[in-house]
Amino acid sequence: MIVVVRPDVSDREMAEVERQLKDSGWGVYRSKGRNSSILRISGCSGEEAGNVVKSVPHIDKVVNVPYPFELASREFKEEKTVFNVKGVEIGGEKVVVMAGPCAVEEKGSFLQSAVAVKNAGADILRGGAYKPRSSPYSFQGLEEEGLKILAEARELTGLPIITEVLDQHSVEKVALYADIVQVGTRNMQNFQLLKELGKIENPVLIKRGMSATIEEWLMSAEYLLSEGNDKVILCERGIRTFETFTRNTLDISAIPIAKSLSHLPVFVDPSHGTGKWRYVHPMSMAAVAAGADGLLVEVHSSPKEALCDGPQSLLPEKFSQLVNSLQKVAETIGRTV
Ligand code: PEP
Ligand code: MN
Repeated sequence: MIVVVRPDVSDREMAEVERQLKDSGWGVYRSKGRNSSILRISGCSGEEAGNVVKSVPHIDKVVNVPYPFELASREFKEEKTVFNVKGVEIGGEKVVVMAGPCAVEEKGSFLQSAVAVKNAGADILRGGAYKPRSSPYSFQGLEEEGLKILAEARELTGLPIITEVLDQHSVEKVALYADIVQVGTRNMQNFQLLKELGKIENPVLIKRGMSATIEEWLMSAEYLLSEGNDKVILCERGIRTFETFTRNTLDISAIPIAKSLSHLPVFVDPSHGTGKWRYVHPMSMAAVAAGADGLLVEVHSSPKEALCDGPQSLLPEKFSQLVNSLQKVAETIGRTV
């Protein structure tokens, strides 16, 4: 159960509210930062909740959520979450397209790709500076040098940038450069990392763990929200199934499910979702038709030479065709791209 205290109460009044609730024998957890007027109460029934409102002062509302994720739920917040990232509205009517190479490999080619995706209609530029690779012998990313190249590409194109953070020790550094910080599939349940990201101002895009249920994914978003960060984007990127022809199985059904359970914007990564560039176009169309609020697409000007994820990367001209096709799908459901 969630208790929302009026935002204008003093610290002393808030402490009094907490004390009264604890005296009722319930567990009380106070959310942090921007969400600090929200108390999560454990150990009481819905019926008892009604009496709480009557007996404790300063309470705005009491919400019963039938799921373990509470701040992320539609019960807690019915209206969808919409926020702005350097002029790009996330979660609004327009389907937002994030695109770029998997990794920042070298300055010249990255700047070229950045201009190409901008000209094709991308809203946000992607590029990994810290790469979570399955093999320790694979390219690990340019690290801070990569972040500097991303910042230069932002300067050049005017596109906000999204990039991945791998561990809690580099949160501060990555947050200094990134407009949106990405949590990869392998880190979805790195709770120490999530707690740190919950404290920053930057929006966070959290990918679904490759073996995570939708509930586990939403619980990870809950970590960010409970620490005070309410600019959270969910991103479906494919899950492990018995199918081997694709790299992952893109769970299209997760889009309407996550959107009905949660007020958070839901994005889709059709590149990691399939692992093969040929299927990125149809799966992007399917994702938008199913209600995705945005896409995260890998684009590389020379996929065969890519140091990471070449087989799933679109050539810039193919990406441009994709954006054009998406306009038509979006129109049919009353949205734009
Ligand atoms: C990526 O976006 O390049 C990436 C590593 O994604 P994922 O975490 O979904 O594998
Ligand atoms: Mn990749």
